[in-house]
Amino acid sequence: MLTIHTQQGRSIEIVLQSELCDPLNLGEYVRAYCHIHGSDHQRSLSINKTTGWGHCFNAACNATVLVAEWNPTVAKRLIQLYYRGFSALLSLDEQMRKALIHSQRAQAYLNERGIPLDVALASGVRYLPPAMVNNLEAQKQRAILRRWEERILFPLASPAGKGYIGRSLWHWQPGMDENAHKSLLDQPRRPRRWIKTNPAGWFGVDSDQLSSSIILVEGAFDRLTLLMAGFDAPGVVALVGTAAPIDWFPPHIKSAVLAFDGDLGGQEATSRIEEQLVQAGIHVRLCLPPQDRWGKDWNERWRRLGPESLRPALEAYADLRKLVCS
Ligand SMILES: [Zn+2]
Repeated sequence: MLTIHTQQGRSIEIVLQSELCDPLNLGEYVRAYCHIHGSDHQRSLSINKTTGWGHCFNAACNATVLVAEWNPTVAKRLIQLYYRGFSALLSLDEQMRKALIHSQRAQAYLNERGIPLDVALASGVRYLPPAMVNNLEAQKQRAILRRWEERILFPLASPAGKGYIGRSLWHWQPGMDENAHKSLLDQPRRPRRWIKTNPAGWFGVDSDQLSSSIILVEGAFDRLTLLMAGFDAPGVVALVGTAAPIDWFPPHIKSAVLAFDGDLGGQEATSRIEEQLVQAGIHVRLCLPPQDRWGKDWNERWRRLGPESLRPALEAYADLRKLVCS
């Protein structure tokens, strides 16, 4: 899924047909559970198959969607707008690396997420300070990059090309709890907490360099947490979301641990992706964080419980490798 913000201030979610949750054909329209606001008990997403445009009837969500395969011309035009953002960011990559090294604020944020600077830099993490955008000479570049300023950026890889995903630090203050900052951003007319350049790339090494046994997590910070705990970079992939087309997994992958978030979205993604991987002949082991009060994802649990919190993931990964190697 890719969120496009038009110049008129509208948000459009570009989705792939495969991302629709349990779609039901009703003549001209398809109804599906809305994966944008998370599972609910009604198929609140209604999409016109001939135009590709659709809309979520849940009042709190009210999302506008476009199914890429059903209106490729418009989807392509909107996605191209995004690639323009990518090349503008790519041209600043080295400057953004230096900005991370010099920004006390960005480092304070990483520090409070429990991530050392060297782990972040080794994984290609960047920072785009507002001053860097303001200092750009070309007005067009400034306009393209305005929505990316004050974000921690993570590189994305996909067979379709490279990209970035950025986490906003808007109004974040040292000492602010991660969940408090999340609820500050998850309100109307605030910067999106996360934005991406291109659809559904993942934060991990290029697919031909992946280990034959991999562990899949949801969040970019979950991946950094696992790397810090000693997992090898080629073995850990963050989907930065909950979708991954099955043809992105190269044939040399033999086994995968699914270690998504412990919430409903993570559980739903687990069963969906497990089924796809098993069908592709990949051994799968599940390792969702325990349902307790210590946090729904690996990064949050690490911050609260320390190294012990990752034991289930380490064990599941070690077991699976043994199984595949024997
Ligand atoms: Zn919705």
